[in-house]
Amino acid sequence: MAKFVYFFGGEKTEGKADMKELLGGKGANLAEMCNLGMPVPAGFTISTTACDHFYKNKRKWPKGLKEQVQKNLKKLEGVMKTQLGDPDRPLLVSVRSGAAASMPGMMDTVLNLGLNEKVVEGLVKKTGNDRFAWDAYRRFIQMFGDVVMKVPHHDFEVILEKKKKAVNAKSDTDLTTADLKAVVKQYKAAYKKATKETFPTDPWVQLEKSINAVFTSWNNDRAITYRRLNDIKGLIGTAVNIQSMVFGNMGKTSGTGVCFSRDPSTGENRFYGEYLMNAQGEDVVAGIRTPLPISTLSRQNRKLYRELVGLKNKLEKHYKDMQDMEFTIQEGKLYMLQTRNGKRTAAAAVKIAVDMVREKLISKEEAVMRIDPDQLDRLLHPMFDVKAEKSADTIAKGLPASPGAATGRIVFNAQDAEAWAGRDEKVILTRIETSPEDISGMDAAVGILTSRGGMTSHAAVVARGMGTCCVAGVDAIKIDYKAQRLKVGNLTLKQGDYISLNGSTGAVYKGHVKTVEARLSGNFQTLMKWADETRRLNVRTNADTPSDAATAVRFGAEGIGLCRTEHMFFEEDRITSVRKMILADDTEGRVRALNELLPLQRKDFEGIFKAMGNRPVTIRLIDPPLHEFVPQDAAAQKKMAGVLKVSPAKVKAKVAELHEFNPMLGHRGCRLGITYPEIIRMQARAIIEAAINVKKKRVQVHPEIMIPLVGEMGELAFCKQVIEETIQEVFARKKSSVNYMIGTMIEVPRAALIADKIAEEAEFFSFGTNDLTQMTCGFSRDDAGKFLKEYVDKGIFEKDPFQVLDQEGVGQLVEMGIQKGRSTRKTLKVGICGEHGGEPASVGFCHRAGMSYVSCSPFRVPIARLAAAQAAIAEKRAKRGAGKKHK
Ligand code: PEP
Ligand code: MG
Repeated sequence: MAKFVYFFGGEKTEGKADMKELLGGKGANLAEMCNLGMPVPAGFTISTTACDHFYKNKRKWPKGLKEQVQKNLKKLEGVMKTQLGDPDRPLLVSVRSGAAASMPGMMDTVLNLGLNEKVVEGLVKKTGNDRFAWDAYRRFIQMFGDVVMKVPHHDFEVILEKKKKAVNAKSDTDLTTADLKAVVKQYKAAYKKATKETFPTDPWVQLEKSINAVFTSWNNDRAITYRRLNDIKGLIGTAVNIQSMVFGNMGKTSGTGVCFSRDPSTGENRFYGEYLMNAQGEDVVAGIRTPLPISTLSRQNRKLYRELVGLKNKLEKHYKDMQDMEFTIQEGKLYMLQTRNGKRTAAAAVKIAVDMVREKLISKEEAVMRIDPDQLDRLLHPMFDVKAEKSADTIAKGLPASPGAATGRIVFNAQDAEAWAGRDEKVILTRIETSPEDISGMDAAVGILTSRGGMTSHAAVVARGMGTCCVAGVDAIKIDYKAQRLKVGNLTLKQGDYISLNGSTGAVYKGHVKTVEARLSGNFQTLMKWADETRRLNVRTNADTPSDAATAVRFGAEGIGLCRTEHMFFEEDRITSVRKMILADDTEGRVRALNELLPLQRKDFEGIFKAMGNRPVTIRLIDPPLHEFVPQDAAAQKKMAGVLKVSPAKVKAKVAELHEFNPMLGHRGCRLGITYPEIIRMQARAIIEAAINVKKKRVQVHPEIMIPLVGEMGELAFCKQVIEETIQEVFARKKSSVNYMIGTMIEVPRAALIADKIAEEAEFFSFGTNDLTQMTCGFSRDDAGKFLKEYVDKGIFEKDPFQVLDQEGVGQLVEMGIQKGRSTRKTLKVGICGEHGGEPASVGFCHRAGMSYVSCSPFRVPIARLAAAQAAIAEKRAKRGAGKKHK
């Protein structure tokens, strides 16, 4: 018969720490503490497989479970020399949940189980403490009623409060035995009224119902939401721990507490925690009485404190990680009730990992694996003061498009953002969506809020590049540009009002919320150095300006993987020339306008080459459809006509001509270079002249010219020829040369399918997974944000594919593209420059797919470095594991 129940304590413990899948974290660690000889009240754990069976079989227990529970209960009674339901030798137990992954407070717990009218009297006799016994009974009825039978918590609270008022009691502890007896009577009546049953006196019935309640709580709303938010997947259910009770509320020599082996917020190696004397665990959590710092215990009871310190030291050494422990003192005797690896802040995680390597507790490899790359974000950006954020007033939620925290005054357009910022005001640029025209306003703002758009919308991509906090796609916020105000529910905010954004969670708060600056510690640098020693993937950055490039280098970027040249076209001194080019009627007119742009672009590239030093720089030629460079509204068109000295009608006609129904599938990318070769000729010239100029300053420049949106070899061949001719002409004229490469982006599915042919012309590939996702899934990257959230909520898609690479679908095209490309050109350099290049799971995929580098926005560079190292270590460990199996 299958084994469902595992005993711990007494002579023989059946579980151990590595049985978490089966016994849950709590059960496995209780067993491990018993194995280590620690004082743990005995008990037994019902496995997660029993819970799995419960759900798969109409909530019935598997065959044999009842017998196994009864048998283990007998054993427990033997160890404890007590008996469940026996008034002379009462055994009371707790029934607690505990899944393989920690889900604190999400599932159910019942304490003091085993009490009834007779047993409570027995408990009075045994303890000589009638108040304690009746209080335990009261708590049990309340917990059992609330948790197991779903009697509203409020029904019990009302009774207790009434009683306290009637007898003038300030706190629960002021109630006398007689008061508690009266409360118990009323509780039972309330229980009967709500459940139409009398409160069960048979302890076995109490136990059976409680076990079922814990199983059921695995799928309560709270637990489901917690698993979704914390990405806990693939677990079959919760285990149930039935453990003999110890009481921290038996008087002055009893108590209970929670402690950590190191400080979970700073990581400092000091014993940290709090406790309460004469209290049960729930009193510590409820916050009615203020707990004392753990250091006070050393003065109150030195021996006990020493014992506790000894246990925490032993546990930390054993688990080789910071422990979060629960303990209870019953009449001067210490018991351990739980230990687990403690949750910690990002800063603490880094400090603890680095310290533990120095203490020779763990290896550098292990330290690198311990840090959640996503957590690093918190170290790189300003964040909210924790207390201030907790009390802030949330008004809406959107997508966490660019991390960090921002607080400032609302402005509704880019010009105002610049003007206000010029007066030293901190502003949040609040737009329905942003467009390239808004760049300088976005740059001036401390935060960006959009009511439309997804994770690869313009606002999101640009904000991440700038390292500016951004919350995108906040549907609930309705913006009225004309009235200069926004509405969210009943609330109206106008220009100048304060608003705060958390770009790491997507939360939008009303008013000013205090922020704290980011600081990079020496420990952080140490950890990143260890990561760099391990990884195989190179990490580059997506940067369009010398200052972004310099930031990225500070964060460890090893090159630029994507410089979007069109972003340079929007600056004030050049947008006019760009528009002139667009309005020109013939090639000559376009060339004249492009000649105005040439020196400006060359200067941009010189700046970037200088910032990047000897590192490679991939520059992408013009990509967006031309309509993005001209204004869409009549007033702005009129202004543009004035500047260019043409009629407004001409501008209007041009804008109409450029209109496309599907601009993302329209006249953009290499298609522009094929229609207007003069544009890419100018860009190639600017790049190479800049490279030659910077080379004179003894910088080893490595320009890589990248052609976007290629889907057919002929497109690439055409553009490449234009570029090559230009380069040779520059070399001849300048009597100098530089090393360069010409390659392509793979962002049209067809390019991945014929990558072997494309590689005949392309010297490198860079996967543009934003467009590749858009075109493979058929989801518009600018509009899909609206419904993709629902897809994820309903489990149709596990993750938004614009955030986390869809390895199953888009990933196939990436793998095929690499394999086909390298079948033609063995040493083909392959990278990724879509937003996925800085997302940890996607970076892992890129490592396994054999890419040469990933490229991401500057602030994501450390995250990608760490994720790349973790992928390399995971691969090494898997190989080691496979090697062992073969032996
Ligand atoms: C991409 O498509 O993945 C890409 C990097 O290009 P863009 O986002 O500029 O279209
Ligand atoms: Mg693209």
